[in-house]
Amino acid sequence: MAQKRDYYEVLGVAKDATADQIKSAYRKLAMKYHPDRNPDNPEAKEKFTEISEAYEVLSNAEKRQAYDQFGHQGVNFGPGGFNFSRDFSHFQDVDLNDILNSFFHGAAGGGFSSFFGGGSTRQRRVDPDAPRRGDDMNFRLDIDFDEAVFGSERTIDLQLPRECEECHGTGSADGAKRSTCKTCGGRGVVVGGSGFFQIRQTCPDCGGEGSVIDKPCRKCHGSGQQPKTEHIALKIPAGVDTGSRLRLAGKGAGGVRGGENGDLYVHLQVGESDIFERDGLNLYVDVPVSPVDAALGCTVEVPTPDGLAELKLPAGTPNGKILRLRGKGIASLRGLGRGDLDVRIVFEVPVDLDRKQKAALEDFNKRVKPGNFPELARLKQRMNVFFSHKEKLQPKK
Ligand SMILES: [Zn+2]
Ligand SMILES: [Zn+2]
Repeated sequence: MAQKRDYYEVLGVAKDATADQIKSAYRKLAMKYHPDRNPDNPEAKEKFTEISEAYEVLSNAEKRQAYDQFGHQGVNFGPGGFNFSRDFSHFQDVDLNDILNSFFHGAAGGGFSSFFGGGSTRQRRVDPDAPRRGDDMNFRLDIDFDEAVFGSERTIDLQLPRECEECHGTGSADGAKRSTCKTCGGRGVVVGGSGFFQIRQTCPDCGGEGSVIDKPCRKCHGSGQQPKTEHIALKIPAGVDTGSRLRLAGKGAGGVRGGENGDLYVHLQVGESDIFERDGLNLYVDVPVSPVDAALGCTVEVPTPDGLAELKLPAGTPNGKILRLRGKGIASLRGLGRGDLDVRIVFEVPVDLDRKQKAALEDFNKRVKPGNFPELARLKQRMNVFFSHKEKLQPKK
């Protein structure tokens, strides 16, 4: 999927644009790209959907807050991402009415939804004063490899939508309840048209809710919510990995009108280790060993999550030998045992030899017998066979 563009960029507004600036930017773009003016132009349709998605998010204080904090990841539309006919909630926005309704031109029902292939009848008659659960929020947290192995505790500061203190979540400046919409008398629909044609439309003044806030709260602009910084204590259990998700119940966006809070999901991203490689619960480590020690047999020290372990190498241990330490990997989050630690022996050829060391090695070389290097002897044998084949098989010139 193509990279999603920044919503502010899509609408061509500044990050600190006011609600009015956002709306006016959307109005302009919506007029320009609306499908009626661009028949048979799939690009315009795409563009229209893109700006509508951006507007859907930036026009809603809560969603805008989540977007500012978490980017696209903080805004959850349903399966398949933003769907115009399902997710766009401004069909009857007073100021957008003229633009949006131009699509309905006579087609009672159809209109937008059918154009965008949704077809769902969006007649939401929700009780405007009913409690609403807060949104779930997502947050990505980078942690160190060591924290993932040993577990850790962290405090993170997050800005989360919480009940507006000014209006106590009512969204109303004077604390008054929502009042019955005068335009539709609380029915949420208006009947228009003339003569034989009557068209029922969602009420443009209350958006179909049947009630309106007379004086929106100045602080939250009627949303009932305000971003608030929260210190959240996190317990990261030992054994987590990239992709592990911590769920903090009730730590997401605040509920509205007494609704419960959403949940907070912390998605962990685990850094790399400069010692180990990790694959699930298994660990891998390279341990440099002197070829002399490997020839004579020795004990090497190996790092494990439990501390240093001693590993006995028999005389003649080859380079690249892998020794498995069972149960010395990472402990399973669900208490289902532990992974293994694979130790790979990697010869480290000694460098910076002084004269005496060189002399000792030269002395050793003089005493080397063919049987000391059986692999080399085997290769020589095979090469002889190979080249004898060459002589037999290659046509002579
Ligand atoms: Zn408020
Ligand atoms: Zn109304």
